[in-house]
Order: sequence, then structure tokens, then C-alpha cells
Amino acid sequence: MAVTHSLGFPRIGARRELKQALEAYWSGKIGLSDLQESGRRLRERHWQLQGRSGIDLVPVGDFAYYDQMLNMTVLLGAVPERFDFGEETPDLDRYFELARGGKHQPAMEMTKWFDTNYHYIVPEFHRDTTFRLGTEWLFEEVEEAAALRFNPKPVLIGPLTYLYLGKAKEDGFERLALLPRLIPVYAEILRRLRDLGVVWVQMDEPALVLDLPPEWLAGYREAYRELAAAGPKILLATYFDSAAEQADLMKDLPVAGLHIDAVRGPVQVPVFLDSYPADKVLSLGLVDGRNIWRTDLGRALALAETARTRLGERLWLAPSCSLLHVPADLESESELDPEIRSWLAFAVQKLQELATVDKGLRLGVEAIRSELETQDRVLGDRAKSARVRNPAVTARLERLTEADYRRYSPFSERIALQRERLRLPVFPTTTIGSFPQTADIRKARADYRKGELNEAVYRETMRKAVREAIGKQEALGLDLLVHGEAERNDMVEYFGEQLEGFVFTRYGWVQSYGSRCVKPPIIVGDVSRPRPMTVEWISYAQRQARKPVKGMLTGPVTILQWSFVRDDQPRSATALQIALAIRDEVLDLEQAGVAAIQIDEPAIREGLPLKRRDRDDYLAWAVKAFRLASSGVADDTQIHTHMCYSEFADILPAIADLDADVITIETSRSGMDLLTAFRDFQYPNDVGPGVYDIHSPRVPAKEEMLRLLEKACEVISPERLWVNPDCGLKTRAWPEVEQAMAHMVEAARTLRQRW
Ligand code: GLN
Ligand code: ZN
Repeated sequence: MAVTHSLGFPRIGARRELKQALEAYWSGKIGLSDLQESGRRLRERHWQLQGRSGIDLVPVGDFAYYDQMLNMTVLLGAVPERFDFGEETPDLDRYFELARGGKHQPAMEMTKWFDTNYHYIVPEFHRDTTFRLGTEWLFEEVEEAAALRFNPKPVLIGPLTYLYLGKAKEDGFERLALLPRLIPVYAEILRRLRDLGVVWVQMDEPALVLDLPPEWLAGYREAYRELAAAGPKILLATYFDSAAEQADLMKDLPVAGLHIDAVRGPVQVPVFLDSYPADKVLSLGLVDGRNIWRTDLGRALALAETARTRLGERLWLAPSCSLLHVPADLESESELDPEIRSWLAFAVQKLQELATVDKGLRLGVEAIRSELETQDRVLGDRAKSARVRNPAVTARLERLTEADYRRYSPFSERIALQRERLRLPVFPTTTIGSFPQTADIRKARADYRKGELNEAVYRETMRKAVREAIGKQEALGLDLLVHGEAERNDMVEYFGEQLEGFVFTRYGWVQSYGSRCVKPPIIVGDVSRPRPMTVEWISYAQRQARKPVKGMLTGPVTILQWSFVRDDQPRSATALQIALAIRDEVLDLEQAGVAAIQIDEPAIREGLPLKRRDRDDYLAWAVKAFRLASSGVADDTQIHTHMCYSEFADILPAIADLDADVITIETSRSGMDLLTAFRDFQYPNDVGPGVYDIHSPRVPAKEEMLRLLEKACEVISPERLWVNPDCGLKTRAWPEVEQAMAHMVEAARTLRQRW
């Protein structure tokens, strides 16, 4: 009775088939028609999976060879002029040029999609940007789905969200000013869809959950007034948070339906239900599209029933958001512990859950009695399971006092002691942690994992990599050394695998960008550290070195942020548990004589909640977690942290609150811009602004780095400056790294002479 639908399905394929096809195509191993055939097969399979799970309306247009935002850009004919494609509508090759860079143009920028780990390609806008109907792909896919007898519901990113997420590439103009030019093209797309027999179109407008300025909100009225007249019924979809603040506006728009996220924003459900307009359907996002836990069906059904008493047939059911952010199918996880497996639901299972709720709604709760019983048993087991609760962890957290979150002495006293202990020159040089992961290193790690390399040989291979990294750093004349991270596949997975409370899937891939996927660990239970995780490697490195070696850890917020987290306790509680485990490691490193320990927190900025009002609370516990992890050490042990990827000028007070002795940041590409914010805020501790863009194979000259450092000296007092690259060097090759580091060391030496 209730229409069930899906807002989007993971496109990469349960076995990452799209990734393989894309990479084979890019490297010339397969032709265009092979790639297109892979795409077609995946779309068909995904529609089938969704249909078979009992979904009435399947999404079309959620498929993309690279990114759904980029698909919108080419559909709207908004290719940046700098690519010089002329009047031509881009074909797939040109589309990839936009995403990956062309012969003469760097790629379009990429950034995170709201608070997810998915990256979209950022539209570029100029004052004179125009729009026109571009690629035919969406229309072709609608026909493809219809030919397969599915009921297609095209998915578009709505005009306001599209503009809002783009970037003005020119000063003195507001991208909202482009709206009047954009609306007619959207209208034309809608008319084309209508002509293909499409009844419903989903317009994703998640920007509505952000703190939008009033002129943007007014834009919604303007846009949807015109679009509603274009033909198909519009379902306006919001997700990732509550849109309650905009409920009046949304109810007032002349669209045929709204979708809201009842998982991330449960508070908005009563707000929307209250005097909900009689001419609209309301789609409730009941099943979590951002996490991998099984849904509490009883609760979902109760909520659906409440909504139905108000809405009757106008109630629709859906996952909270597109399923792009969860792995495809739990069926593949045959190696996962069955107990834990029973607690999980991936995309396919989530749609089945939705169908079950729908069945309960249609036929009464008796009709799904057995599903509910299984459900209750499983959820009950999970709540009681020893894999989840560890009383020792809870007890330790309860015993913590204020003092555990504070270093013994203030920074000014600590740094003097640290300088004495470390004996570093002014403008000390260091790196961020990883060195090139050579083919040998990767192969040894992979073979060891598969059981094809025995432990002794594996260890020796890694030790050799450590020796080489130390040897090269000493030859280069770097001051504070690192072991190089050869033994680490990934900075979160490496720790998750050694911590109690984490599990790993075999095929739990989630698209990160383009063909890139990540396999986030799952935090199932209380986190603790059974034994030291890095001490042996760092100690080994220290024994090979005459200069001090920095210990290297990933921070609690980053581990949390890049994992699937528990839904049975607040994120903050999990963060503190991870922090305790990292604290244990920090103290063991210190015990082993390590004088400087880096705790990376590159993800602290991206964890920021979407709404301003939630930010202080997040920052408070994020800072607490870092301080818990780092504050146990003596004054003369130096704590470093590292951040990259994003602008974090807006959270500098929190960054300063971390009270790390040294922070290294990414600044080279922006020409030290971020440092100005550090100065304005009077950031108190040591800073290492990156002078080498590690994303590029280009080796900057010594003079270039020197200029950046001179600029840095103008804004930060020189005795607090460190000299380092933007980030880890694992994706680079040794020859360029050695050259770049040699230039960096020379630049630091030149500065020292002047000092
Ligand atoms: N220590 C890590 C490295 O050097 C840091 C990576 C990161 O910031 N993303 O690779
Ligand atoms: Zn980094």
C-alpha cells in the first residue's frame, strides 16, 4: 500500500566491477564498448536486486562512471570553459578529462559530499556560465530501465543544491545569481523525462538541511514554482539531517512529495506530519543509509503506522538517503563471524527490511511476526553480547578525572624541556610519517596477508624498508625521523585490526571517489588495546638511527570518522574508548624511550556536524578525545599532530585546545594562506606548514620552498616553525621524494644561516 522506493544504490558493484572496468579502460586494456557494457550490466543487476527486494520505484541516474555531481554538470551543459570543448557535448573520454585532468588542464576540484566520505566533483561557476541540455545519458538510462520493465524514478540533484555545492571561480559574483539561467534547463530535462513516460522525478536537495542564508531559501520558491509546471511529479528529497527549520517552506512548495531522513533527523517527523498538505506524499527515510546495522523493525513499523494514520496512502517508505554510502550485499560476507553478521544489513538487506515494514503496514503486524521475532532475538543478543560490552573499559572511563585530559605543564615550559631533550636545530625538518610504498613493500604485505609469506620473511622485508627509510633520512640530513609506515596498509585499518572491538569485512567496499573505494572497519563493541601496536617498529627504527625517531599513531577522531560506528552509544563515547587505547600506546612508546609521538587527526574537520548549532558539542568531545589520548606523557615528550585535506581556519580555537606541541598542516598549494588564520588567532604552539605538495610528482626547487618559508616567517614567529611536506609520502616514488627532501633540507639550512 505504501509505495517503497530507493533513493540510490551503490554503483561500484559488489565486487567492485565498475572499478575494474574503469581502470582497465583508463589503462587501455579494454575498449569503450566494454566499459559501457560493464556499466549497462551493473545498472541492470542493481535494478534487479532492488526490484527483487520488493522496491516499487527504482532510481535511475544514480549510476555514474565517475560521480553523480559530474553527471549533473555534463547533463546541464556546464563544462568549465577552460577545458575548451567548444559547443560539443562531452563524450565519456572528455567526461573523464574533467574528473581526472586533461592534457592541458588540471582536473576539476573534488570535495566531500556533506559529512560523508564520498567525494564529488565541484562545479565551477563564472559570472557568464551558461547552461544548456547536455548529455543524453540520463534519458538513455530511463529507456533502458523501462525496457527491462522497471518503474524508473530518475534522480537529479536539485538546482539549489547543485549551485550551492559549486564554487564561484571569479570574485564579486554570487553563484545564486545563475539560478534564473539554470531553471529553464532543469525544466527542459523534466519535459524530456515526461515525454519518456516518467511519472515521478526525485530532486535531491540536501542543502536544505544546512544553515542556508535567506536568499537561498527564497531561491527554492522561485525554482520549484517553475519546475512543478514542467510535467513529472517532483519528490523533493532531503537527507543527512533534519530539515525541520524549513518545514513550512517545503510544505509550501508546489511539489508532489517530500522525503525526509527519519534516522538522522527523527525530531523532524512530527514537525512535518503536523498539518501536512493534502496534495503531497511524504516519504519517510526509515532505514539507515549511512550505517550497516540491522534496523529495529518494530520501531520502524511503529513510526510508519503513526505516519499512516495521518497520511494514509500518501505515506511512502525509503532508506534515509542513497545507499551509496553502505556496501552492496551482506551475502558476500561468508567469512564474517555469524554472530556479528546477524547484526548487520548492507544495501540489499536494507531494502528487504523496508519491504518487511511495508508488509507489516499492509497486512498487519501478524504478517511479519516471524521477522519481528528474529529481529528481537538478534537485537537482544547484540545488546548482551560479550563482543559488545567490556566492563573493564567502562570502569576505566568512569575512573578518569580532569587531570587525565591535561598535560602536566603549560606549553611554554614543555617546549623548553623538549628542545633540550631532542636537541633539534631551529627550523627543524621532519616528514609526516609515510615513505613511498614500493611495489616490494606492497607485495610483501599482500602475500603475508594471503598466508603466502611467512612471518619471519615478512618482518625482515618490513625491517629492511625501515632501515632504508632511516638511512635515506640521515643521508638527507632530516632532523626528526620517521620509520616510514611500510607495515601499514591504511592508517585506520592498521590500528583497527589490532584493537579489540573492531571487525573487518571482505567485500564491504564503499565508493570514495571515481574508481576509489574504501572498506571501513566496523566498530562493534567497546574498544580496548590488548597489546602494543607500534612499539616494536618504532623501537627498531630508533635502534637504526642516530637522530630521534617520531612515533606514529592515528588519532581517535580519525579512527572513528573513517569507520562504521556503533549505533547503540553516542559517537563521543566510542571516541573516548578509542582515545584510551591510543593513550596506552602513547605511554608504551614513551616508556620505550620515544621522545616525540605524532597522533594524526586529518579527519577532525570533516567530522564537523552539518548544522552550526551542533558544532560546539562535537568539537568539545573531539578535543577531549585527543587530549585523553595524548596527555599522559611527561613534559619532555613532544606530542605532534597532523591535519590535511581541508581548511580548518574556522575551528582554530578547537585545534589550539588540542594542545599538541607541534602541528603539521597542508599549506603549500594555498601559498601559506592558512597560516594567516593561525597568526590572527595567535595560535600558541609550534607549527609545521607544508612546503611540498605531495599530491603532485613535481619536485619543487629549493628557492620555491624557501619563499614559502620566508612567507611563513612573516606570520609565525620563526622559533616556532617546523619544515615539512604537506602530508605523508606514501603515494610518491623515492627518486622524487629524495630530491624534494634534499631541497627542503637545503631551504631550512639557508634559513638557519640567516637566523
Ligand atoms: N602519517 C600518515 C602518513 O604519513 C598521515 C596520513 C594523512 O594525513 N592522511 O601517511
Ligand atoms: Zn595528511
